[in-house]
Amino acid sequence: MQTKLLINGQLVAGEGAAQPVLNPSLGTELVTINEASEAQVDAAVRAADAAFDSWSQTAPKDRSLLLLKLADVIDANAEELARLESQNCGKPYTAALNDELPAIADVFRFFAGASRVMGGSAAGEYLPGHTSMIRRDPVGVVASIAPWNYPLMMAAWKLGPALAAGNTVVLKPSEQTPLTALRLAELAADIFPAGVINVVFGRGPTVGAPLTGHPKVRMVSLTGSVATGSNIIASTADTVKRMHMELGGKAPVVIFDDADIDAAVEGIRTFGFYNAGQDCTAACRIYAQKGIYEKFVAKLAEAVSTIKYGVQDDEGTELGPLITQQHLDRVAGFVERARAIPHIKVLTGGKKVDGPGFFFEPTVLAGALQDDEVVRREIFGPVVSVTEFSDEAQALAWANDSDYGLASSVWTNDVGRAHRFAARLQYGCTWVNTHFMLVSEMPHGGQKLSGYGKDMSMYGLEDYTTVRHVMFKH
Ligand code: NAD
Repeated sequence: MQTKLLINGQLVAGEGAAQPVLNPSLGTELVTINEASEAQVDAAVRAADAAFDSWSQTAPKDRSLLLLKLADVIDANAEELARLESQNCGKPYTAALNDELPAIADVFRFFAGASRVMGGSAAGEYLPGHTSMIRRDPVGVVASIAPWNYPLMMAAWKLGPALAAGNTVVLKPSEQTPLTALRLAELAADIFPAGVINVVFGRGPTVGAPLTGHPKVRMVSLTGSVATGSNIIASTADTVKRMHMELGGKAPVVIFDDADIDAAVEGIRTFGFYNAGQDCTAACRIYAQKGIYEKFVAKLAEAVSTIKYGVQDDEGTELGPLITQQHLDRVAGFVERARAIPHIKVLTGGKKVDGPGFFFEPTVLAGALQDDEVVRREIFGPVVSVTEFSDEAQALAWANDSDYGLASSVWTNDVGRAHRFAARLQYGCTWVNTHFMLVSEMPHGGQKLSGYGKDMSMYGLEDYTTVRHVMFKH
């Protein structure tokens, strides 16, 4: 197992405190890894800074070729990477291999192409006797901080656009799930010039904070919780860095009387519980219209009760564990407090699973009201709430009444209503009659406390550049 950091093209052992890395399906330790010391964080940033001049001036076609090579190497090592990811996150091996790995390679291929077609928006004579042009240039050293729920995917979302645009990167994966990023570092070391990609391991306060606070870091890209986002923004304010923030979510799922109920049930069974609901876009905050409410919750509870949870390698496992004991306790706490509220009914699930690992039963909470904690706060587990609504105006008001603004969906067979409703939802993404589907060409990112900045797409690439005006006097 590759446990070394990548600094300036060299794989080196961490010199900081030892941290256990667990398999959450079994609750057992996979490996112990030493985190980066402050001196190693500094060395990684300095290596990225030293590599910037040359990498930023490398022709897009040459940057593109290296990104394509990385995608090929990911494909060639897909089984090993999926195995590591599933052991470290507890996610089903087949989901990691068949859903995540192809999408990860595709992100690098998309940005390989995108780097060659990024354009400035104008060139012309806006002042007589002068020609102006717009350039999009890389920002500099990017500190990329990733969460634990999709470790390799988040590494791809961060490395792809940053490198394509000509930046150099110091990536810090989550201390809970570093294994695929560390293996990717080893694979990338054979492809990219020293210093272009650096990967350090460690916790937020000991490694993340000195990294994001480093004066040579010009941009911080975080995918994580709102608390971490606002902490980084506040603690780095004096160095006025570019920020790219992908934070939490609490996606509303609005199901009208005229929707295809079976499709909605199947959609929520899949997209509310994928990755054990540990997903910022999870279909978790359901609003069902009163004409179908009773029938819908009965069908949903029945469908969710058939979700098979288990160890990542077991045949047919659909749902893995939560990431840690602490997170399991947190999710269980939400459900216990909801159970104590008279108007909420636990229709299926609702308990921790006995035995090893951090499993929680797939759970449906019916009868939740708009101000209930389970409707307002991000649970980040295999738990969905269902709230009854009467008409379109009420559904829109409740859907938008949230601190978050990442993802949403509306389920209806009325095309006019779908357009009208989608236009007024205050979310970075709205799906109609589906949920959760992402493609490399389309942007992913939020509003409100869900953050700002886009992942994937040309907008993601642009976020990792700075717009410059160059003017020529004739
Ligand atoms: P987290 O905020 O606890 O940690 C995220 C990363 O930040 C980790 O690598 C952590 O070590 C690091 N970190 C923590 N404190 C830091 C500090 N002071 N300075 C620098 N780095 C620091 O989040 P998590 O628990 O790993 O992930 C779950 C959260 O991520 C959820 O809220 C989820 O909604 C969010 N998320 C959002 C998206 C999105 O695209 N918007 C995608 C996935 C996850």
